[in-house]
Amino acid sequence: MMKIIGVDIGGTNIDVVFFSDGKYRHIMTLHTENIDDICEKIQETVSIMDVDAVGIGVAAWLKSGNIIHAPNLPSPEAPLNLRDALDVPVFLDNDANCFAMFAHEILGHASLLAVTVGTGIGSGIIVNGEIYRGGGIAGEIGHWTTGRSSRSDTGKQENLRCRCGGKDHLECYFSGWALEQKYGKSVKDLMAENRNFIYETEGFDDFCRAIANAVMLLDPSAVVFGGRIGMQFDAKILENRIYCYLMRGFLPRIEVLKDEIAVAKGACILAASSML
Ligand SMILES: [Zn+2]
Repeated sequence: MMKIIGVDIGGTNIDVVFFSDGKYRHIMTLHTENIDDICEKIQETVSIMDVDAVGIGVAAWLKSGNIIHAPNLPSPEAPLNLRDALDVPVFLDNDANCFAMFAHEILGHASLLAVTVGTGIGSGIIVNGEIYRGGGIAGEIGHWTTGRSSRSDTGKQENLRCRCGGKDHLECYFSGWALEQKYGKSVKDLMAENRNFIYETEGFDDFCRAIANAVMLLDPSAVVFGGRIGMQFDAKILENRIYCYLMRGFLPRIEVLKDEIAVAKGACILAASSML
């Protein structure tokens, strides 16, 4: 039986999970600012637990195993350093793809759109049971343009700069970093003060329209939400708003996966399936 370590390197936290005998065990969560310390800790765990392989889900755009852009990571080189430092096989993928793999495994939909909302917004697409990658980086729904800056009916010209370097992207209005920048507090604190905070933001409508547009493109059986912010969403509220924008015949199930370490678990699936 294989022993696997799954790592989720997100914009705010790094989660590490151990998988063996069909069970996941949460090992640690670190702050992403301490990303350079993680190498040693994981190396230690690999040798103590006699691990066969490591999967890493990372908040970055990856092509052929190379990180080409990581707007939400303090150190884009760190995941690659980790890969090179370990003496077991290491498999790297986008964090939302790892989330999609885990959602697919436990929910079973043959086609699904998986959406993570945390520091940024990520998405993974499963078509016929496999991740759809396009040229490598398909599914960057967080960087779809909202069109706000060109709409004259908003009264003022908004033209926000995204962390990726683009302008007016969905993440500029609806992501952990954008909402924290706008309100001066973390979304966790804002939601603790007002449970409905997230649905009352302007960005929530941009978000639901983007999801509806993606559904019109992909016609998935389900849209599954996760991430540290996304896992707190109410599926019924999301469904009501997304369905407003869908045409007849498009009826994806709207589900929320309440699991903080879903990406790290998906990274275990990535490593296990890559070792076969
Ligand atoms: Zn962007």
